[in-house]
Amino acid sequence: MMPMGETFDRHSVSALSASSPSAWPLPTAQAQLDFLGNIQAVLEDGQFVATYKFALLTALADLAVEMGADDGAPCRLTLADIAGKFVAYYWQQAAPFAGAGDAGVLRQSTGAQAAVLNLLAGERSIGLGTVAQLRASPSRWQSVLTRIARIIREQPLHRLQVVAGEARIFLYPHDEHAEAITLLPGVAYQLRRFHPLVTGLARARWMSLIRDIRANRNMVGQAHDLERFLFGNERQPITHQLPMLTDQQRGLCLYCGARLRAGDTHVDHFIPWSLHRFDALPNLVAAHGQCNLAKRDMLAAERHLERWVARNAAAFREPPPGATDPASTTGDAALRIARWAYQRSDDNGAAVWLQGRQTERLSGRYRRMLEV
Ligand SMILES: [Zn+2]
Repeated sequence: MMPMGETFDRHSVSALSASSPSAWPLPTAQAQLDFLGNIQAVLEDGQFVATYKFALLTALADLAVEMGADDGAPCRLTLADIAGKFVAYYWQQAAPFAGAGDAGVLRQSTGAQAAVLNLLAGERSIGLGTVAQLRASPSRWQSVLTRIARIIREQPLHRLQVVAGEARIFLYPHDEHAEAITLLPGVAYQLRRFHPLVTGLARARWMSLIRDIRANRNMVGQAHDLERFLFGNERQPITHQLPMLTDQQRGLCLYCGARLRAGDTHVDHFIPWSLHRFDALPNLVAAHGQCNLAKRDMLAAERHLERWVARNAAAFREPPPGATDPASTTGDAALRIARWAYQRSDDNGAAVWLQGRQTERLSGRYRRMLEV
């Protein structure tokens, strides 16, 4: 059964994209319901032996936010992009978990330990504490990505879309030799639109599989901190960026515009960490402790957005020298993620933070500011 695969071929793709810029209509309401139904079917399918499928679905949703467009266009993702996400998710999980009982690396497969965990535990054992340290060695980083991409190709990539033993091609056509996949028309749009729902469901299933694996029982027990251990995600240390950020903002708080004071300056994630785990420099700003704490996990008002876009246009036109991941360190990636965040907030009618306890509604000005 491949209803969408049949309608997706190279000829129709090139014919459509040549005709007009709006050649990719948004999925209909019925198509979106079917999409969510398929996501649920995939996650509820009992044939999971490893947690890779959850990681893969989460990676597709995160990459759709970072790379996808706002129309129904298909979206190409390389296996290296996906492997990079696997490293981010599994890095912390490859450390020993010290919960209620014995300490050890949690098993992520019903059989022998999942290969990605062994691989990353090996990297950690040579003294690499963070993903940033691993990235700092380009040859090591490339070798890890290549090995993980191979595991993804051999295992979850073709299993993700199998429900009750039958292929249900609703995310991407599968080619076992390709170095990349292309999300079908409308898929990136829906992964962006339903990002919190898709990633939330995937994580809940991920955690329950880990709890169910017999080898983990003595370690997990009734530990309440399992979720934080699995998905709390290391934040890269960011305070060392403070002098550079302060300099780029000419010594002024990004939010209130007043002079920053030594000892009371925080590094804030402009697009909140709780919304999207985006740790690259363009998303970091220097702000008063008080302004940072008042903003909490909210999106900042459009007047703040305007200053942030202007700062990034001046400071991050090019990737920083020596950046190992240029795609996520340029201002363009930041603009795409911000456009996704503000569009969602607008669609949901949510308030954005102005100052102190004051909030306001979006006017729509953000759309022009965030054109890539
Ligand atoms: Zn301030």
